Amino acid sequence: MINMAVPEKKEMMYEGKAKQVYATEDSSRVIVYFKDDATAFNGKKKSQISGKGEINNTLSSILYTYLEEKGIKTHFLRQLSTREMLVHAVDIIPLEVIVRNIAAGSMARNLGVKEGTVFKKPILEYSFKKDELGDPMVSEDHIIALEWASQEQIDFIRRTALKINELLKEIMLKAGLRLVDFKLEFGMRKNEMLLADEISPDTCRLWDVETGEVMDKDRFRKDLGQVAEHYQEVLKRVKKALSV
Ligand code: UDP
Repeated sequence: MINMAVPEKKEMMYEGKAKQVYATEDSSRVIVYFKDDATAFNGKKKSQISGKGEINNTLSSILYTYLEEKGIKTHFLRQLSTREMLVHAVDIIPLEVIVRNIAAGSMARNLGVKEGTVFKKPILEYSFKKDELGDPMVSEDHIIALEWASQEQIDFIRRTALKINELLKEIMLKAGLRLVDFKLEFGMRKNEMLLADEISPDTCRLWDVETGEVMDKDRFRKDLGQVAEHYQEVLKRVKKALSV
Protein backbone atom coordinates (compact mmCIF):
# COMPACT_ATOMS: atom_id res chain seq x y z
CA MET A 1 0.00 0.00 0.00
CA ILE A 2 1.24 3.48 -0.85
CA ASN A 3 1.13 5.87 2.08
CA MET A 4 -1.20 8.58 0.78
CA ALA A 5 -0.28 11.18 3.41
CA VAL A 6 1.62 13.98 1.67
CA PRO A 7 5.34 13.64 2.41
CA GLU A 8 7.20 16.77 3.54
CA LYS A 9 8.90 18.75 0.74
CA LYS A 10 12.72 18.79 0.95
CA GLU A 11 15.53 20.16 -1.23
CA MET A 12 15.35 20.86 -4.97
CA MET A 13 16.97 17.93 -6.79
CA TYR A 14 16.72 19.15 -10.35
CA GLU A 15 15.67 22.21 -12.31
CA GLY A 16 14.58 21.95 -15.92
CA LYS A 17 13.33 24.54 -18.38
CA ALA A 18 9.70 24.51 -17.24
CA LYS A 19 9.71 22.53 -14.00
CA GLN A 20 11.57 21.93 -10.76
CA VAL A 21 11.72 18.59 -8.97
CA TYR A 22 11.90 18.43 -5.17
CA ALA A 23 12.85 15.51 -2.96
CA THR A 24 10.47 14.57 -0.17
CA GLU A 25 11.00 12.71 3.09
CA ASP A 26 9.96 9.60 1.12
CA SER A 27 12.60 8.68 -1.48
CA SER A 28 9.98 6.95 -3.66
CA ARG A 29 7.98 10.14 -4.21
CA VAL A 30 8.95 13.59 -5.48
CA ILE A 31 7.16 16.91 -5.93
CA VAL A 32 7.10 18.57 -9.35
CA TYR A 33 6.75 22.38 -9.37
CA PHE A 34 5.50 23.97 -12.61
CA LYS A 35 7.18 27.30 -13.47
CA ASP A 36 5.97 30.10 -15.75
CA ASP A 37 9.23 29.92 -17.73
CA ALA A 38 8.87 29.19 -21.42
CA THR A 39 11.64 28.22 -23.81
CA ALA A 40 11.70 27.32 -27.48
CA PHE A 41 14.21 26.46 -30.19
CA ASN A 42 16.31 24.41 -27.77
CA GLY A 43 16.43 27.16 -25.15
CA LYS A 44 17.45 29.94 -27.56
CA LYS A 45 14.15 31.80 -27.04
CA LYS A 46 13.22 32.43 -23.41
CA SER A 47 10.40 34.23 -21.65
CA GLN A 48 7.82 33.99 -18.89
CA ILE A 49 4.16 33.30 -19.49
CA SER A 50 2.27 34.48 -16.45
CA GLY A 51 -0.01 31.74 -15.09
CA LYS A 52 1.33 28.99 -17.38
CA GLY A 53 2.63 26.85 -14.50
CA GLU A 54 -0.78 26.69 -12.86
CA ILE A 55 -2.55 25.84 -16.10
CA ASN A 56 -0.08 23.13 -17.11
CA ASN A 57 -0.07 21.54 -13.67
CA THR A 58 -3.87 21.45 -13.52
CA LEU A 59 -4.30 20.23 -17.10
CA SER A 60 -1.63 17.54 -16.71
CA SER A 61 -3.24 16.39 -13.45
CA ILE A 62 -6.64 16.11 -15.14
CA LEU A 63 -5.24 14.26 -18.16
CA TYR A 64 -3.15 11.84 -16.07
CA THR A 65 -6.23 11.05 -13.98
CA TYR A 66 -8.20 10.37 -17.16
CA LEU A 67 -5.44 8.19 -18.63
CA GLU A 68 -5.12 6.24 -15.35
CA GLU A 69 -8.87 5.57 -15.47
CA LYS A 70 -8.32 4.15 -18.96
CA GLY A 71 -5.57 1.81 -17.77
CA ILE A 72 -2.41 3.83 -18.56
CA LYS A 73 0.15 3.68 -15.76
CA THR A 74 1.53 7.14 -14.98
CA HIS A 75 3.82 8.70 -12.37
CA PHE A 76 0.94 10.91 -11.18
CA LEU A 77 -0.25 10.56 -7.59
CA ARG A 78 -2.12 13.80 -6.89
CA GLN A 79 -2.19 17.54 -7.46
CA LEU A 80 -0.95 19.20 -4.27
CA SER A 81 -1.46 22.87 -5.08
CA THR A 82 -1.92 25.14 -8.07
CA ARG A 83 1.70 24.59 -9.17
CA GLU A 84 2.67 21.35 -7.44
CA MET A 85 2.10 17.70 -8.24
CA LEU A 86 3.11 14.65 -6.19
CA VAL A 87 4.49 11.88 -8.39
CA HIS A 88 6.32 8.56 -8.15
CA ALA A 89 10.09 9.01 -8.43
CA VAL A 90 11.22 7.43 -11.72
CA ASP A 91 14.43 7.05 -13.70
CA ILE A 92 13.62 8.89 -16.90
CA ILE A 93 14.40 7.04 -20.13
CA PRO A 94 16.35 9.68 -22.13
CA LEU A 95 13.89 9.73 -25.03
CA GLU A 96 11.27 12.13 -26.30
CA VAL A 97 8.54 10.00 -27.79
CA ILE A 98 6.68 12.03 -30.40
CA VAL A 99 3.36 11.01 -31.90
CA ARG A 100 2.16 12.83 -35.02
CA ASN A 101 -1.32 12.78 -36.54
CA ILE A 102 -0.96 15.85 -38.75
CA ALA A 103 2.19 17.37 -40.28
CA ALA A 104 3.55 20.41 -38.42
CA GLY A 105 6.71 21.81 -36.84
CA SER A 106 10.05 20.13 -37.41
CA MET A 107 8.56 17.32 -39.47
CA ALA A 108 6.84 19.61 -41.95
CA ARG A 109 10.07 21.61 -42.16
CA ASN A 110 12.59 18.78 -42.40
CA LEU A 111 10.70 16.60 -44.85
CA GLY A 112 9.04 19.32 -46.90
CA VAL A 113 5.56 18.01 -46.05
CA LYS A 114 2.77 20.59 -46.25
CA GLU A 115 1.68 21.68 -42.77
CA GLY A 116 -1.79 20.30 -42.05
CA THR A 117 -1.36 17.07 -44.07
CA VAL A 118 -3.31 14.37 -42.22
CA PHE A 119 -1.56 10.99 -41.97
CA LYS A 120 -3.44 7.73 -42.66
CA LYS A 121 -1.93 6.34 -39.47
CA PRO A 122 -0.03 8.05 -36.66
CA ILE A 123 3.74 8.42 -36.94
CA LEU A 124 5.92 7.64 -33.93
CA GLU A 125 9.35 9.27 -33.63
CA TYR A 126 12.06 9.20 -31.00
CA SER A 127 14.54 11.92 -30.07
CA PHE A 128 17.52 11.50 -27.75
CA LYS A 129 16.93 13.88 -24.81
CA LYS A 130 20.18 15.86 -24.86
CA ASP A 131 19.98 19.66 -25.06
CA GLU A 132 23.68 20.03 -25.98
CA LEU A 133 23.03 17.93 -29.10
CA GLY A 134 19.69 19.56 -29.92
CA ASP A 135 17.63 16.41 -29.14
CA PRO A 136 18.54 14.50 -32.34
CA MET A 137 16.08 12.05 -33.86
CA VAL A 138 17.06 8.39 -33.35
CA SER A 139 15.77 5.02 -34.55
CA GLU A 140 14.82 1.96 -32.51
CA ASP A 141 18.18 0.44 -33.43
CA HIS A 142 20.04 3.44 -31.94
CA ILE A 143 18.00 3.09 -28.75
CA ILE A 144 18.84 -0.60 -28.39
CA ALA A 145 22.50 -0.31 -29.45
CA LEU A 146 23.10 2.57 -27.03
CA GLU A 147 21.13 0.75 -24.31
CA TRP A 148 18.66 3.53 -23.53
CA ALA A 149 15.87 0.95 -23.61
CA SER A 150 15.41 -2.74 -24.48
CA GLN A 151 13.36 -4.06 -27.41
CA GLU A 152 10.70 -5.10 -24.92
CA GLN A 153 10.60 -1.59 -23.44
CA ILE A 154 10.39 0.00 -26.89
CA ASP A 155 7.51 -2.31 -27.80
CA PHE A 156 5.74 -1.23 -24.62
CA ILE A 157 6.43 2.47 -25.30
CA ARG A 158 5.10 2.14 -28.84
CA ARG A 159 1.89 0.34 -27.79
CA THR A 160 1.30 2.75 -24.90
CA ALA A 161 2.01 5.92 -26.91
CA LEU A 162 -0.44 4.83 -29.63
CA LYS A 163 -3.10 4.02 -27.03
CA ILE A 164 -2.54 7.41 -25.37
CA ASN A 165 -2.89 9.02 -28.79
CA GLU A 166 -6.33 7.44 -29.29
CA LEU A 167 -7.48 8.48 -25.81
CA LEU A 168 -6.17 12.05 -26.10
CA LYS A 169 -7.46 12.49 -29.66
CA GLU A 170 -10.95 11.55 -28.51
CA ILE A 171 -10.97 13.90 -25.54
CA MET A 172 -9.46 16.79 -27.48
CA LEU A 173 -12.02 16.36 -30.24
CA LYS A 174 -14.75 16.56 -27.58
CA ALA A 175 -13.07 19.81 -26.52
CA GLY A 176 -13.20 21.10 -30.11
CA LEU A 177 -9.44 20.60 -30.62
CA ARG A 178 -7.44 18.63 -33.18
CA LEU A 179 -4.51 16.80 -31.64
CA VAL A 180 -1.82 17.52 -34.22
CA ASP A 181 1.17 16.01 -32.39
CA PHE A 182 2.58 15.61 -28.89
CA LYS A 183 5.61 14.51 -26.92
CA LEU A 184 5.72 11.91 -24.14
CA GLU A 185 8.40 10.81 -21.71
CA PHE A 186 8.56 7.54 -19.83
CA GLY A 187 10.41 6.51 -16.69
CA MET A 188 11.16 3.36 -14.72
CA ARG A 189 9.91 2.81 -11.18
CA LYS A 190 11.68 -0.40 -10.18
CA ASN A 191 10.69 -2.74 -13.04
CA GLU A 192 7.59 -0.88 -14.07
CA MET A 193 7.44 1.67 -16.88
CA LEU A 194 5.32 4.76 -16.16
CA LEU A 195 4.26 7.71 -18.25
CA ALA A 196 6.07 10.75 -16.76
CA ASP A 197 6.74 14.46 -17.44
CA GLU A 198 3.61 16.48 -18.41
CA ILE A 199 0.82 16.69 -20.98
CA SER A 200 -0.02 20.31 -21.72
CA PRO A 201 -0.11 22.89 -24.52
CA ASP A 202 3.68 23.10 -24.00
CA THR A 203 4.03 19.50 -25.20
CA CYS A 204 1.08 19.10 -27.60
CA ARG A 205 0.03 20.91 -30.76
CA LEU A 206 -3.68 21.68 -30.65
CA TRP A 207 -5.71 23.41 -33.36
CA ASP A 208 -9.28 24.62 -32.99
CA VAL A 209 -11.55 22.26 -34.95
CA GLU A 210 -13.67 25.05 -36.42
CA THR A 211 -11.22 27.87 -37.05
CA GLY A 212 -7.83 26.14 -37.14
CA GLU A 213 -6.61 28.62 -34.53
CA VAL A 214 -3.34 27.60 -32.85
CA MET A 215 -3.99 26.88 -29.14
CA ASP A 216 -0.54 25.67 -28.02
CA LYS A 217 3.11 26.60 -27.59
CA ASP A 218 3.40 27.62 -31.24
CA ARG A 219 1.73 30.86 -30.06
CA PHE A 220 4.95 31.49 -28.13
CA ARG A 221 7.31 30.06 -30.77
CA LYS A 222 5.73 32.18 -33.52
CA ASP A 223 4.92 35.28 -31.43
CA LEU A 224 1.19 34.94 -32.03
CA GLY A 225 0.37 36.56 -28.68
CA GLN A 226 -2.13 35.80 -25.87
CA VAL A 227 -0.37 32.56 -24.96
CA ALA A 228 -1.77 32.14 -21.42
CA GLU A 229 -5.29 33.03 -22.60
CA HIS A 230 -5.22 30.24 -25.17
CA TYR A 231 -3.75 27.72 -22.68
CA GLN A 232 -6.53 28.71 -20.27
CA GLU A 233 -9.12 28.11 -23.00
CA VAL A 234 -7.68 24.61 -23.61
CA LEU A 235 -7.95 23.86 -19.90
CA LYS A 236 -11.53 25.14 -19.75
CA ARG A 237 -12.59 23.04 -22.75
CA VAL A 238 -10.87 19.85 -21.56
CA LYS A 239 -12.46 20.23 -18.11
CA LYS A 240 -15.86 20.53 -19.77
CA ALA A 241 -15.18 17.56 -22.06
CA LEU A 242 -14.25 15.41 -19.06
CA SER A 243 -16.91 16.92 -16.78
CA VAL A 244 -14.36 17.83 -14.08
N1 UDP B 1 7.93 18.77 -28.22
C1 UDP B 1 8.15 18.98 -26.88
N2 UDP B 1 9.44 19.13 -26.43
C2 UDP B 1 10.51 19.07 -27.25
C3 UDP B 1 10.29 18.87 -28.63
C4 UDP B 1 8.99 18.72 -29.08
O1 UDP B 1 7.21 19.00 -26.09
O2 UDP B 1 11.64 19.21 -26.78
C5 UDP B 1 6.55 18.62 -28.73
C6 UDP B 1 6.11 19.84 -29.53
O3 UDP B 1 5.48 20.80 -28.71
C7 UDP B 1 5.15 19.23 -30.53
C8 UDP B 1 5.70 17.82 -30.75
O4 UDP B 1 6.51 17.53 -29.62
O5 UDP B 1 3.85 19.13 -29.98
C9 UDP B 1 6.51 17.68 -32.02
O6 UDP B 1 7.50 18.68 -32.03
P1 UDP B 1 8.47 18.93 -33.27
O7 UDP B 1 9.36 17.76 -33.42
O8 UDP B 1 7.66 19.33 -34.44
O9 UDP B 1 9.41 20.07 -32.75
P2 UDP B 1 9.46 21.61 -32.87
O10 UDP B 1 8.63 22.04 -34.04
O11 UDP B 1 8.97 22.07 -31.55
O12 UDP B 1 10.93 21.83 -33.07
